[in-house]
Amino acid sequence: MDAKDRLRRYLEQRRELGESELVLDSLSIEDVMKMVGAKPTAAKATDASAAPRAKLREPAPVPRDADAPSPDDPSDASSMPLAPPPEPGVRFDRGATTDWREALRNAGAMRPSDASSPRPSAPGPTPSAAGAAKSDAAPVDHVVADTAVKTLPAWLSALELPLGIEAGRLRVIDAAPEVASLPTLEEIAVHVASCTRCALYKSATHHVPGEGNSSAELLCVGEAPGVDEDEQGRPFVGESGQLLTKILSAIQLSREDVFICNLLKHRPPGNRDPLPEEVVACRPYLLRQIELVRPRVILALGRFAAQTLLQTTTGIGELRGRIHRFHGVPLIVTYHPAALLRNESWKRPTWEDVKLARRILDASRSASADSTAP
Ligand code: URA
Repeated sequence: MDAKDRLRRYLEQRRELGESELVLDSLSIEDVMKMVGAKPTAAKATDASAAPRAKLREPAPVPRDADAPSPDDPSDASSMPLAPPPEPGVRFDRGATTDWREALRNAGAMRPSDASSPRPSAPGPTPSAAGAAKSDAAPVDHVVADTAVKTLPAWLSALELPLGIEAGRLRVIDAAPEVASLPTLEEIAVHVASCTRCALYKSATHHVPGEGNSSAELLCVGEAPGVDEDEQGRPFVGESGQLLTKILSAIQLSREDVFICNLLKHRPPGNRDPLPEEVVACRPYLLRQIELVRPRVILALGRFAAQTLLQTTTGIGELRGRIHRFHGVPLIVTYHPAALLRNESWKRPTWEDVKLARRILDASRSASADSTAP
């Protein structure tokens, strides 16, 4: 069977498995480049006849761990459907990229406009490019100059990730002193139950203050309750909530481990976008929740939550993949689970985002452990 036949067979198998996106796991890059008619890389070209023919492997069984859950069984929470294939340890010869799509593009085999590509490398230098990793408080360039993250703790700099926006100067005590004095999450919930700070309480069935672990290391922020959440008084319990549960389980977190809440604690009628005055009215509750939970990482779910928290109009594509900070807490942006239900091609980038959140969480834990070590 020649290379093209094998590629066709492989693609047919993936299609039968229900994949709509081209996932070239376990394929040799060199082989795929040849299949699509790209020139071999310089290193291989000098030694093409001597190089052993790269093997086209059958799709490998996928280990069920955070780096490589099975993409094939959406009914299984432990096998998150967002999952990318395991990295087969391929290193590209061309340029510094480890992204096979980029390698193919560099080789002239793919149009830059191909929609299934993951987000292109973010513009601007990373902390490492700016020499930030070595210092506790290194200045770096980045996406929105006025509100740029300028300093990071050493453990976070050491991850060498592109930096984003530093947001959250408003103190709860200034926004709503009565909320600032609420001592527990339960008391916030009680307060929200009788909240009249905006008009949404009139049309909502239940208040949805948020739920989860009071000392969660990851805090998820969505936009506002939908119809299911309004009925049950709990956040993210509808279809998108079930997907969120799977997303979390892929980074070994259960709903009980994390805290889940929304910008708004009451449902806007007809699921319309929150109004600015509603966001402002509800904001003290979220700020107080974050103060009490003190998460290691905040995960902003969707454009609306991300832009509101970061006070920016920058698009989600640009906000993803960067470390932002909200009130000093590292914040990662990803797509809203409801958006993933509409557009499967966002599952892969979402998986990258939550892996990033997990990485920051783990690094934060290690830094705490180191600082308390005798
Ligand atoms: N969408 C949200 O943003 N929040 C929910 O709680 C449910 C759906």
